[in-house]
Amino acid sequence: MITSKRTAQATPEALHRIFTIAEAPDSTLGRIEQEISHNLIGFLNNRIVASKNALTDIEQDFICPRIPEQPEFVSDHIHHLLDKLVAQSVHTASPSFIGHMTSALPAFILPLSKLMVGLNQNLVKVETSKAFTPLERQVLGMMHNLVYQEDESFYQAWMHSAQHSLGAFCSGGTVANITALWVARNKLLKADGDFKGITRSGLFAALQHYGYQDLVILTSERGHYSLQKSADILGIGQDSVIAIETDENNKIDCQKLAQKCQQLSAQNIKILAIVGVAGTTETGNVDPLDKIADIAEQYQCHFHVDAAWGGATLLSNKHRYLLNGIERADSVTIDAHKQMYVPMGAGVVVFKDPSSVADIEHHAEYILRKGSKDLGSHTLEGSRSGMAMLVYASLHIISRPGYEMLINRAIDKAKYFAKIINEHEDFELVTEPELCLLTYRYVPTSVQRLLSAADAEQQAELNLILGKLTKFIQKRQRENGHSFVSRTRIKVACYNDEKVIVFRVVLANPLTSKETLRDILAEQCLLAQESENFLPQLLAAAKV
Ligand SMILES: *Cc1c(COP(=O)(O)O)cnc(C)c1O
Repeated sequence: MITSKRTAQATPEALHRIFTIAEAPDSTLGRIEQEISHNLIGFLNNRIVASKNALTDIEQDFICPRIPEQPEFVSDHIHHLLDKLVAQSVHTASPSFIGHMTSALPAFILPLSKLMVGLNQNLVKVETSKAFTPLERQVLGMMHNLVYQEDESFYQAWMHSAQHSLGAFCSGGTVANITALWVARNKLLKADGDFKGITRSGLFAALQHYGYQDLVILTSERGHYSLQKSADILGIGQDSVIAIETDENNKIDCQKLAQKCQQLSAQNIKILAIVGVAGTTETGNVDPLDKIADIAEQYQCHFHVDAAWGGATLLSNKHRYLLNGIERADSVTIDAHKQMYVPMGAGVVVFKDPSSVADIEHHAEYILRKGSKDLGSHTLEGSRSGMAMLVYASLHIISRPGYEMLINRAIDKAKYFAKIINEHEDFELVTEPELCLLTYRYVPTSVQRLLSAADAEQQAELNLILGKLTKFIQKRQRENGHSFVSRTRIKVACYNDEKVIVFRVVLANPLTSKETLRDILAEQCLLAQESENFLPQLLAAAKV
């Protein structure tokens, strides 16, 4: 660490300087600012060291609980951040980091984020976010339009209306899902005669008043865990999220869904909501939304679509049809921080009916007064940043056709990857990409032959060892730090619905090339050879 000859001191003058004077352009921070503004990827490539440090090692750098008594100069502290934090960070923008939904960001995001942070608007109320409040409402309108495609007069009537909201801007898909189910719950159990509604009287009184045995949420086995969290906070309980089986394409089995609805109704258990998934987190598949809408209509329950990841596909005229039926949903979650290339903290839920939010409306004396246009009266979160500005800017700068190109190319890339996996004799494609997500695993060709001839019991044995091998390769690949795929365990139809460990890749990063993908397969082949137990065990089994 480079230490300054002077020592920093907490004096009134020094504190005043911190608030008023920027670091000079030729200071350490000034130079870093230049570097990240002009060549962020280059900066990340240089500064993030693919270290093999285990998390527990890194923890040693973040162990001291004492708040410093001695101030530091920015120029000293920045070195500490570079060494301990930046160097050991995960290079999510790297073209070979294809394991998760977090990818590279467009270069304009960084300077615009600085502007956003600098303005430091609080979107909870108009008094701290004039201009940003109408902007956020417009962004919600644009996202609503993306899903529901209402006409101009609809948006003119509701977009800026104090008593209405086309949606809610949230920190992410989790809060968006909670908000949607909160609206559904409060609407279902609203005030009625002497009963003051769940908002005032709570769940117990509400169930008694309406005479329901219980409330449940139905979704597929591939539903996101945020639904369990939602059920937990909404007082319904995690066990009331009922997972409906999926078919061989990881889509909800609508026959089973209808049967379940029938059965629950007969027991006087009210279905609070059916949640369709548009782009499951593990396999990227889209539920048959139109059919789910029919069932939700029949049982008169809220139809929510969790399109946190896949919702951006609506920007592609070519692939939009994959989400047909989404326009029948009462509410839809879309994360801009996934396939819309906005930094984290940008989730959206939109409501078909602009007056839906009346059921979650909150007021306070000093802000959020009745009739005000404060966004905070319809959001779960209180203070919120002006993140909507980055969605707004991205929609303008990239535009719909730009997004369409990004989405189409991501899907094409996933199809290409699936093709080379299929062509490679030592890999098995486990789930085909419907969007830009797929799963696969390493299975030597001789083992593939053995698997296809084996009975269920032998298959299970082989899959167990193959699972260990997959885990070995994935871990070693992550530790080596050249590339990254994630792994998960999914039910696979061709193995009698047995759960199988697979590699999972999300091909959203526009910087990922075909060559990157070929290199990743080559690297995984080499890593498999390093396994001292599992590969020999498999090959021996295949020889018999
Ligand atoms: C990512 C995701 C979520 C959760 O969103 P966060 O932004 O991580 O809170 C919910 N549902 C699905 C389908 C997702 O992919």
